[in-house]
Amino acid sequence: MSFVKTDILDALENGVIITDKDLNILFWNRWLSVHTGISQEKAHRQRLPKLFPDTSFSILKRKIRIAFTLKTPSFMNASVEKYVIPIKLNKITKSIFRFMRQDSVITPLDDTQVAVLIYDATQLLEANAVIETQLKLEEKQARIDGLTQCYNKTMFNKLLAIEIKKANRHDYAFSMIILDIDNFKSVNDTFGHLVGDYVLKQIATICSQNIRESDVFARWGGEEFCILLPQATLENTIAVADKLRRIVAAHNFGEAGPQQCSFGVAEYSKDNQQANLVRQADEALYYAKHNGKNRVAAYLDNQKFILSP
Ligand code: GH3
Ligand code: MG
Ligand code: MG
Repeated sequence: MSFVKTDILDALENGVIITDKDLNILFWNRWLSVHTGISQEKAHRQRLPKLFPDTSFSILKRKIRIAFTLKTPSFMNASVEKYVIPIKLNKITKSIFRFMRQDSVITPLDDTQVAVLIYDATQLLEANAVIETQLKLEEKQARIDGLTQCYNKTMFNKLLAIEIKKANRHDYAFSMIILDIDNFKSVNDTFGHLVGDYVLKQIATICSQNIRESDVFARWGGEEFCILLPQATLENTIAVADKLRRIVAAHNFGEAGPQQCSFGVAEYSKDNQQANLVRQADEALYYAKHNGKNRVAAYLDNQKFILSP
């Protein structure tokens, strides 16, 4: 190894392999010995694949060929190729990766020898992975209700705004339902919050499973949920709400005992305001509440209501 003083290479805080085209190792620096457990004496004049029989070096070989052909450095990227040589990360570091992630620069030294410089990129990639997970979580929290895993109010309002635009452009109607669990406070008061949470999750599941895939189900807040039914008329929507009402009332909620819901239904008509539609469904809901609960009420022009059953 005539190019550089080897003790400088041994002092580096990254890996250095000098090899020929056939991956015969001419130099293996101390960093590599420390991290792989393979001594410099053992590595010297060995073929790299022989030291790591389970690892494919086809990409490295290709990169070496490119470096020789173009007489310029070629590169391997930790986020694409993961690593050049397998270095197991010990359990103490608690890394999310099993093997050290490595960036690499492959530099031709002359016509027969190449230097493969290996850099530990594990921490950077770990930090990126943590940020990515956090962003995904925040993105999810912005749309999904944590307890029931259905859409939250923000997402419902966004989808409702889109539906209103579509309905105005194509001149068709659609409807929405707001439902509220009857006397839910007494479930919490009698059985505790965990049982209350269980009832909320069950009702979310029941409703989600008994509407169309194109319908949007969301938690409006507390013990209230809402459903957006694209292209559904008021009449159809009353039927859907009444079906859900009956399914909930017949469901076995375990120790919480039988549960019932009240429903408010409103149909969108062209150029109505979003807030107005929600208010109409809400008024219908309270009409159902004030008329005995476990009922469906629908808003009609000028605040007339129809009740079912
Ligand atoms: P009504 O029939 O008139 O709707 O009566 P209600 O008891 O259902 O309504 P009220 O508004 O008096 O009480 C709603 C209760 O819902 C009170 C609140 O503690 C409970 N609640 C809201 N969010 C949650 C939640 O995430 N988990 C649990 N367990 N309870 C909740
Ligand atoms: Mg309630
Ligand atoms: Mg309520």
